[in-house]
Amino acid sequence: MSTHASHTAHADVIVIGGGIMGCSTAYFLRRHGLSVVLLERNMTGQQASGTNFGGVRRQGRALPQLAMSNRALRIWRASRELLGRDVEFLPSGHTRVAYHAHDAEYFDDYARQARDYGLDLEVLHGAAMRRRFPFLGPDVLAASISPLDGHANPRLAAPAFARAARALGADIRENASVRRVERTATGFRVETFAGESFMAERLAICAGAWTNALASQFGESAPLTVRGPQMAVTEPVPYVFRSSMGVYTSIKEESIYFRQIPRGNLILGGGPPGPADAATSRAAVLPENTLGQLRQFRRLVPGVAPLHIIRVWSGVESYLPDGEPVIGKSGTTDGLYYAFGFSGSGFQIGPGVGETLAELIATGRSEIDLQPFRIQRFDAPGPSTPASAPTMAQGGPPSPTVTSS
Ligand SMILES: Cc1cc2nc3c(=O)[nH]c(=O)nc-3n(C[C@H](O)[C@H](O)[C@H](O)COP(=O)(O)OP(=O)(O)OC[C@H]3O[C@@H](n4cnc5c(N)ncnc54)[C@H](O)[C@@H]3O)c2cc1C
Repeated sequence: MSTHASHTAHADVIVIGGGIMGCSTAYFLRRHGLSVVLLERNMTGQQASGTNFGGVRRQGRALPQLAMSNRALRIWRASRELLGRDVEFLPSGHTRVAYHAHDAEYFDDYARQARDYGLDLEVLHGAAMRRRFPFLGPDVLAASISPLDGHANPRLAAPAFARAARALGADIRENASVRRVERTATGFRVETFAGESFMAERLAICAGAWTNALASQFGESAPLTVRGPQMAVTEPVPYVFRSSMGVYTSIKEESIYFRQIPRGNLILGGGPPGPADAATSRAAVLPENTLGQLRQFRRLVPGVAPLHIIRVWSGVESYLPDGEPVIGKSGTTDGLYYAFGFSGSGFQIGPGVGETLAELIATGRSEIDLQPFRIQRFDAPGPSTPASAPTMAQGGPPSPTVTSS
């Protein structure tokens, strides 16, 4: 637990950012017995971690992410017992479908490769696919089914990790916006806009789209861009779609994904993202994108045509050029760690990142190889080496769409 002295609170670790990365990191740090202060500018889970689609999807990820993604799935499955509350994780399965022959063939390649990384998929083509999913439109050629994946409620997940971390003794501070971070002789000093200061031996920056403002104070940054995936939800109807589903395609306009919650509403996303702005923390939904989503939703499942959209939203998400996150140690500063840049797919993997980052901070090593996610990959001038390059060479990009939930 932190102690307060001369307005400066001390802890073993300060975590900046109360999204799913920061909150799960704080939770697992406490399980390692380290004292933690978490500083969140707004409320925990208010940004991308609370506005996302809710897809808990492993399939489609670059192969180097699968170890972390499998670790995350174990935590999602145990979340009720670990966190002491329900985050509405439903292991309903996730199904990717293809409209194009080359994408359908890629499903077989990806399934073969993913098996070596602990992800078992069932791929169905033609008549077999149609028997399993009679409600799909005529353009669908094949389906790749990941039976253990599913979805969860993003409004609940990060705050649940924050509450569980607090119950274990973490000092979780909301409405605490960090202005200044610096390395001192003994560790780190962190100051908020309200003038509070905090000291710790180690610092974890999990500040999503806002990370560069902090990382640059340690002389490093990553080429983050910010976009707003477009979301919509329909009126409730009888609960029939158990597996969440998404179209795999390189044609941005064709991309659509949806899940149905037991209450009956269908949540959907996909298509070109809208504009987002880290400075104002705003992300817009463009009406033409929602109309495009409806066209694609009806193409995928013609039976949904009569449904009404009752709400749309977006969220501020940060992307890195190679689509892989930064997870691990700073390249410039001892004792400093990062997790950011999850490029549209950090919700599922979040708890695995938190457990891994906490393990790295507490023990100096991690069970999972973090080499593909190091920040230094962006150091070299000219085109950087994509972390997922080996995967792409082996079987094409894992998800060619900009929105991959
Ligand atoms: C609309 C949408 C749909 C998505 N769908 C999916 C999906 O279905 N499945 C999936 O796996 N992923 C999905 N994602 C991606 C996923 O939501 C993100 O990758 C993930 O939530 C990132 O978590 P985070 O903790 O890194 O970032 P965030 O949730 O953005 O948290 C970062 C936090 O840091 C805080 N912060 C920043 N600067 C400071 C500061 N100076 N001081 C204090 N606090 C600070 C912010 O306020 C914020 O709360 C989606 C994203 C969006 C936006």
